[in-house]
Amino acid sequence: MIDTENAAAETAPERRRVGEPVVRFRGVRKTFGDTEVLKGIDLDLYPGEKVAVIGPSGSGKTTIARILMTLERPTGGTVEVEGEQLWHRVRKGRTVRADEKHLHRVRQSIGMVFQHFHLFPHMSIIRNVTEAPVHVLKMPKKQAESEALMLLDKVGLKEKALAYPGELSGGQKQRVAIARALIMKPKVMLFDEVTSALDPELVGEVLKVIKELAEESSMAMLLITHEMDFARDVADRVLFTDGGLIVEEGPPEELFERPRSERLQSFLARFRGR
Ligand code: ADP
Ligand code: MG
Repeated sequence: MIDTENAAAETAPERRRVGEPVVRFRGVRKTFGDTEVLKGIDLDLYPGEKVAVIGPSGSGKTTIARILMTLERPTGGTVEVEGEQLWHRVRKGRTVRADEKHLHRVRQSIGMVFQHFHLFPHMSIIRNVTEAPVHVLKMPKKQAESEALMLLDKVGLKEKALAYPGELSGGQKQRVAIARALIMKPKVMLFDEVTSALDPELVGEVLKVIKELAEESSMAMLLITHEMDFARDVADRVLFTDGGLIVEEGPPEELFERPRSERLQSFLARFRGR
Protein backbone atom coordinates (compact mmCIF):
# COMPACT_ATOMS: atom_id res chain seq x y z
CA MET A 1 0.00 0.00 0.00
CA ILE A 2 1.26 3.44 -0.82
CA ASP A 3 1.46 5.76 2.13
CA THR A 4 0.04 8.84 0.42
CA GLU A 5 0.45 11.12 3.37
CA ASN A 6 4.16 10.43 3.59
CA ALA A 7 4.54 10.58 -0.17
CA ALA A 8 3.05 14.08 -0.08
CA ALA A 9 5.38 15.07 2.74
CA GLU A 10 8.31 14.01 0.60
CA THR A 11 7.36 16.20 -2.32
CA ALA A 12 5.75 19.32 -0.88
CA PRO A 13 8.48 21.75 0.16
CA GLU A 14 6.30 23.53 2.71
CA ARG A 15 5.76 20.22 4.50
CA ARG A 16 9.43 20.18 5.24
CA ARG A 17 8.98 23.17 7.47
CA VAL A 18 8.43 21.24 10.64
CA GLY A 19 9.22 22.47 14.11
CA GLU A 20 11.11 25.65 14.83
CA PRO A 21 13.55 27.14 12.35
CA VAL A 22 17.22 26.35 12.95
CA VAL A 23 18.10 29.77 11.60
CA ARG A 24 15.96 32.88 11.87
CA PHE A 25 16.93 36.32 10.56
CA ARG A 26 14.64 39.22 11.41
CA GLY A 27 15.19 42.65 9.90
CA VAL A 28 18.91 42.06 9.54
CA ARG A 29 20.82 45.08 8.32
CA LYS A 30 24.48 45.62 7.59
CA THR A 31 26.28 48.82 6.76
CA PHE A 32 29.84 49.12 5.53
CA GLY A 33 30.94 52.75 5.79
CA ASP A 34 28.16 54.76 4.16
CA THR A 35 26.72 51.85 2.23
CA GLU A 36 23.86 49.73 3.52
CA VAL A 37 24.43 46.35 1.89
CA LEU A 38 21.67 44.49 3.77
CA LYS A 39 18.45 46.44 4.15
CA GLY A 40 16.31 44.18 6.32
CA ILE A 41 16.65 40.46 5.70
CA ASP A 42 14.00 38.07 7.05
CA LEU A 43 14.96 34.47 6.58
CA ASP A 44 13.89 31.17 8.13
CA LEU A 45 15.72 27.95 7.55
CA TYR A 46 13.94 24.88 8.87
CA PRO A 47 15.57 21.63 10.01
CA GLY A 48 16.63 19.62 6.97
CA GLU A 49 15.57 22.31 4.54
CA LYS A 50 17.74 23.05 1.49
CA VAL A 51 17.49 26.69 0.49
CA ALA A 52 19.26 28.15 -2.54
CA VAL A 53 20.16 31.84 -2.66
CA ILE A 54 20.53 33.39 -6.09
CA GLY A 55 21.05 37.00 -7.07
CA PRO A 56 23.39 39.38 -8.82
CA SER A 57 26.91 39.97 -7.65
CA GLY A 58 27.01 42.55 -4.86
CA SER A 59 23.42 41.89 -3.76
CA GLY A 60 24.47 40.77 -0.25
CA LYS A 61 24.52 36.96 -0.47
CA THR A 62 27.98 36.52 1.04
CA THR A 63 27.26 39.06 3.76
CA ILE A 64 24.21 37.01 4.83
CA ALA A 65 26.42 33.90 5.10
CA ARG A 66 29.22 35.76 6.90
CA ILE A 67 26.81 37.14 9.50
CA LEU A 68 25.48 33.65 10.16
CA MET A 69 29.04 32.36 10.37
CA THR A 70 29.76 35.18 12.89
CA LEU A 71 32.41 36.66 10.61
CA GLU A 72 30.45 39.95 10.44
CA ARG A 73 28.35 41.63 13.08
CA PRO A 74 24.99 42.94 11.80
CA THR A 75 24.24 46.64 12.31
CA GLY A 76 20.56 45.93 12.94
CA GLY A 77 18.01 43.18 13.45
CA THR A 78 18.37 39.79 15.10
CA VAL A 79 19.78 36.40 14.18
CA GLU A 80 18.75 33.25 16.02
CA VAL A 81 20.30 29.80 15.74
CA GLU A 82 18.15 27.05 17.27
CA GLY A 83 16.12 29.64 19.11
CA GLU A 84 19.17 31.23 20.64
CA GLN A 85 20.23 34.77 19.75
CA LEU A 86 23.53 34.76 17.98
CA TRP A 87 24.74 38.31 18.52
CA HIS A 88 23.07 39.01 21.83
CA ARG A 89 22.45 37.08 24.96
CA VAL A 90 20.17 37.51 27.88
CA ARG A 91 21.97 37.88 31.18
CA LYS A 92 20.04 38.55 34.40
CA GLY A 93 16.97 39.50 32.38
CA ARG A 94 18.87 42.06 30.28
CA THR A 95 19.90 41.73 26.67
CA VAL A 96 23.62 42.27 26.25
CA ARG A 97 26.08 41.90 23.40
CA ALA A 98 27.32 38.36 22.93
CA ASP A 99 30.88 37.71 24.01
CA GLU A 100 33.37 35.60 22.07
CA LYS A 101 32.64 32.52 24.19
CA HIS A 102 28.93 32.62 23.35
CA LEU A 103 29.65 33.19 19.64
CA HIS A 104 32.08 30.29 19.63
CA ARG A 105 29.46 27.96 21.10
CA VAL A 106 26.62 28.93 18.75
CA ARG A 107 29.00 28.96 15.76
CA GLN A 108 29.70 25.27 16.31
CA SER A 109 26.32 24.35 14.87
CA ILE A 110 27.25 26.03 11.57
CA GLY A 111 29.62 24.79 8.89
CA MET A 112 30.75 26.77 5.89
CA VAL A 113 32.43 26.05 2.59
CA PHE A 114 33.82 29.10 0.83
CA GLN A 115 34.62 29.96 -2.76
CA HIS A 116 38.32 29.54 -1.96
CA PHE A 117 39.14 26.43 -0.05
CA HIS A 118 41.44 27.73 2.70
CA LEU A 119 43.17 24.39 3.26
CA PHE A 120 46.38 24.37 5.29
CA PRO A 121 49.07 23.81 2.61
CA HIS A 122 51.63 22.29 4.99
CA MET A 123 49.24 19.63 6.34
CA SER A 124 48.20 16.37 4.73
CA ILE A 125 44.60 16.08 3.57
CA ILE A 126 43.62 13.91 6.53
CA ARG A 127 45.18 16.38 8.98
CA ASN A 128 43.32 19.22 7.33
CA VAL A 129 40.12 17.34 8.11
CA THR A 130 41.02 16.21 11.66
CA GLU A 131 42.53 19.52 12.83
CA ALA A 132 39.32 21.17 14.05
CA PRO A 133 37.63 18.13 15.65
CA VAL A 134 40.82 17.29 17.55
CA HIS A 135 41.66 20.82 18.65
CA VAL A 136 38.26 22.45 18.93
CA LEU A 137 35.95 19.54 19.83
CA LYS A 138 38.71 17.61 21.66
CA MET A 139 37.77 14.48 19.73
CA PRO A 140 40.26 11.63 20.27
CA LYS A 141 42.74 11.54 17.36
CA LYS A 142 41.94 7.93 16.41
CA GLN A 143 38.22 8.66 16.22
CA ALA A 144 38.81 11.85 14.22
CA GLU A 145 40.97 9.91 11.76
CA SER A 146 38.41 7.18 11.25
CA GLU A 147 35.62 9.73 10.78
CA ALA A 148 37.83 11.73 8.40
CA LEU A 149 38.51 8.63 6.28
CA MET A 150 34.81 7.88 6.13
CA LEU A 151 34.05 11.43 4.97
CA LEU A 152 36.93 11.48 2.48
CA ASP A 153 35.49 8.27 1.10
CA LYS A 154 32.08 9.92 0.82
CA VAL A 155 33.55 12.79 -1.23
CA GLY A 156 35.52 10.29 -3.33
CA LEU A 157 39.00 11.11 -1.98
CA LYS A 158 39.92 8.36 0.46
CA GLU A 159 43.02 7.52 -1.57
CA LYS A 160 44.26 11.12 -1.21
CA ALA A 161 44.27 11.06 2.61
CA LEU A 162 48.06 11.32 2.83
CA ALA A 163 48.53 13.72 -0.08
CA TYR A 164 49.06 17.47 0.38
CA PRO A 165 46.72 20.21 -0.91
CA GLY A 166 49.27 21.24 -3.55
CA GLU A 167 48.91 17.83 -5.20
CA LEU A 168 45.13 18.17 -5.63
CA SER A 169 42.99 19.81 -8.30
CA GLY A 170 40.66 22.65 -7.34
CA GLY A 171 37.67 20.32 -7.42
CA GLN A 172 39.42 17.85 -5.14
CA LYS A 173 40.43 20.61 -2.72
CA GLN A 174 36.86 21.80 -2.58
CA ARG A 175 35.69 18.26 -1.80
CA VAL A 176 38.23 18.14 1.05
CA ALA A 177 36.81 21.45 2.31
CA ILE A 178 33.35 19.86 2.33
CA ALA A 179 34.62 16.85 4.35
CA ARG A 180 36.37 19.23 6.73
CA ALA A 181 33.12 21.10 7.40
CA LEU A 182 31.09 17.89 7.75
CA ILE A 183 33.29 16.34 10.40
CA MET A 184 32.13 19.06 12.82
CA LYS A 185 28.55 17.70 12.43
CA PRO A 186 26.94 21.09 11.92
CA LYS A 187 23.19 21.59 12.04
CA VAL A 188 23.45 24.01 9.15
CA MET A 189 25.83 24.00 6.21
CA LEU A 190 26.55 27.12 4.18
CA PHE A 191 27.96 26.84 0.69
CA ASP A 192 29.04 30.16 -0.80
CA GLU A 193 29.59 29.88 -4.55
CA VAL A 194 31.83 26.90 -3.96
CA THR A 195 32.27 26.23 -7.67
CA SER A 196 32.83 29.74 -8.98
CA ALA A 197 36.63 29.64 -8.61
CA LEU A 198 36.91 26.26 -10.35
CA ASP A 199 37.79 25.45 -13.93
CA PRO A 200 34.53 24.57 -15.72
CA GLU A 201 35.45 20.90 -16.11
CA LEU A 202 35.77 20.54 -12.30
CA VAL A 203 32.42 22.09 -11.39
CA GLY A 204 30.36 18.93 -11.97
CA GLU A 205 32.22 16.70 -9.53
CA VAL A 206 31.74 19.20 -6.69
CA LEU A 207 28.06 19.81 -7.41
CA LYS A 208 27.50 16.06 -7.54
CA VAL A 209 28.98 15.62 -4.05
CA ILE A 210 26.80 18.43 -2.67
CA LYS A 211 23.72 17.04 -4.37
CA GLU A 212 24.28 13.57 -2.88
CA LEU A 213 24.82 15.17 0.49
CA ALA A 214 21.63 17.19 0.17
CA GLU A 215 19.64 14.09 -0.75
CA GLU A 216 20.83 11.90 2.09
CA SER A 217 21.44 14.35 4.89
CA SER A 218 19.10 15.86 7.43
CA MET A 219 21.25 18.96 7.80
CA ALA A 220 19.73 22.27 6.80
CA MET A 221 21.65 23.82 3.91
CA LEU A 222 21.95 27.33 2.55
CA LEU A 223 23.35 27.13 -0.96
CA ILE A 224 24.51 30.40 -2.50
CA THR A 225 25.01 29.64 -6.16
CA HIS A 226 25.21 30.86 -9.72
CA GLU A 227 24.38 27.38 -10.99
CA MET A 228 20.69 27.72 -11.78
CA ASP A 229 20.15 24.10 -12.83
CA PHE A 230 21.77 22.97 -9.60
CA ALA A 231 19.60 25.32 -7.50
CA ARG A 232 16.51 24.05 -9.22
CA ASP A 233 17.52 20.46 -8.75
CA VAL A 234 18.57 20.55 -5.11
CA ALA A 235 16.61 23.30 -3.38
CA ASP A 236 13.28 23.00 -1.60
CA ARG A 237 13.03 26.76 -1.76
CA VAL A 238 14.87 29.53 -3.59
CA LEU A 239 15.54 33.08 -2.43
CA PHE A 240 16.38 35.85 -4.88
CA THR A 241 18.41 38.72 -3.45
CA ASP A 242 18.87 42.09 -5.07
CA GLY A 243 20.12 45.35 -3.59
CA GLY A 244 20.38 43.97 -0.06
CA LEU A 245 16.83 42.60 0.07
CA ILE A 246 15.15 39.26 -0.55
CA VAL A 247 13.04 40.35 -3.49
CA GLU A 248 11.31 37.06 -4.21
CA GLU A 249 11.16 33.57 -2.75
CA GLY A 250 9.36 30.32 -3.43
CA PRO A 251 9.66 26.74 -4.64
CA PRO A 252 12.15 26.39 -7.53
CA GLU A 253 9.48 25.56 -10.15
CA GLU A 254 7.65 28.73 -9.28
CA LEU A 255 10.65 31.04 -9.13
CA PHE A 256 12.28 29.79 -12.30
CA GLU A 257 9.12 29.28 -14.36
CA ARG A 258 7.00 32.18 -13.16
CA PRO A 259 9.23 34.93 -11.79
CA ARG A 260 6.99 37.77 -10.64
CA SER A 261 9.36 40.70 -10.27
CA GLU A 262 10.92 42.45 -13.22
CA ARG A 263 14.30 42.20 -11.46
CA LEU A 264 14.19 38.42 -11.22
CA GLN A 265 12.94 38.13 -14.80
CA SER A 266 15.89 40.08 -16.14
CA PHE A 267 18.34 38.27 -13.84
CA LEU A 268 17.15 34.89 -15.15
CA ALA A 269 17.17 36.10 -18.74
CA ARG A 270 20.91 36.70 -18.40
CA PHE A 271 21.43 33.00 -17.64
CA ARG A 272 19.37 31.70 -20.53
CA GLY A 273 21.16 30.80 -23.68
CA ARG A 274 24.49 30.43 -21.90
P1 ADP B 1 27.37 39.01 -3.08
O1 ADP B 1 27.91 37.87 -2.31
O2 ADP B 1 25.91 38.91 -3.37
O3 ADP B 1 28.17 39.26 -4.33
P2 ADP B 1 28.38 40.63 -0.91
O4 ADP B 1 27.60 40.26 0.30
O5 ADP B 1 29.75 40.06 -1.05
O6 ADP B 1 27.51 40.34 -2.21
O7 ADP B 1 28.54 42.20 -0.98
C1 ADP B 1 27.46 43.10 -0.91
C2 ADP B 1 28.01 44.50 -0.96
O8 ADP B 1 28.76 44.77 0.20
C3 ADP B 1 28.96 44.75 -2.14
O9 ADP B 1 28.69 46.04 -2.65
C4 ADP B 1 30.32 44.69 -1.50
O10 ADP B 1 31.22 45.52 -2.20
C5 ADP B 1 30.05 45.22 -0.10
N1 ADP B 1 30.97 44.67 0.91
C6 ADP B 1 31.05 43.38 1.28
N2 ADP B 1 31.96 43.21 2.26
C7 ADP B 1 32.48 44.44 2.51
C8 ADP B 1 33.46 44.95 3.42
N3 ADP B 1 34.09 44.13 4.28
N4 ADP B 1 33.73 46.25 3.39
C9 ADP B 1 33.08 47.07 2.55
N5 ADP B 1 32.14 46.68 1.67
C10 ADP B 1 31.84 45.38 1.64
MG1 MG C 1 29.42 36.49 -2.76
